[in-house]
Amino acid sequence: MRIDLRQLFDIVGERKTFDLSLDFSDEEYNGEHPFQMPVKVSGQIENKAQVVRLFFSVKFVLNLHCDRCMGEFERAYDFSFQHVLVRKLNTDNDEYVVCEDSQLDLDELVRADLFLELPSKVLCTEDCKGLCGQCGRNLNFDSCECEKKSIDPRLEVLGKLLE
Ligand SMILES: [Zn+2]
Ligand SMILES: [Zn+2]
Repeated sequence: MRIDLRQLFDIVGERKTFDLSLDFSDEEYNGEHPFQMPVKVSGQIENKAQVVRLFFSVKFVLNLHCDRCMGEFERAYDFSFQHVLVRKLNTDNDEYVVCEDSQLDLDELVRADLFLELPSKVLCTEDCKGLCGQCGRNLNFDSCECEKKSIDPRLEVLGKLLE
């Protein structure tokens, strides 16, 4: 959605709220297309004492695969962002968003903000046990004897005796 900010820049006290739902199903993250449901965005833009501020929150659910155990899971996210909107940039400040011709491409800003917040590693749980390197079993649900065998020296000796 493109927002025309002319009134917001010109009139102190001017305020605009918005609610939108964005389709990010083509967006890639972590090698997948996890945005299977629309991204809900709601917020407002307000001119307070000639400073135009944008606030918005983004709510969405991702359908992901764990980097460690490959298990599939859903995770809900809820982020909030704020920016100062300016027509021209006078100082170097990352917080400022320059809106050329008083136009704001809100979808693009939401996309950029959201992707910066997403973690680089995706785990189903903080302490996911992953898969066994030898038998491939998912150690979150199952246990196996592989590790015990390889670290128990008595079993190694026993194995040699049986050869
Ligand atoms: Zn996992
Ligand atoms: Zn195993």
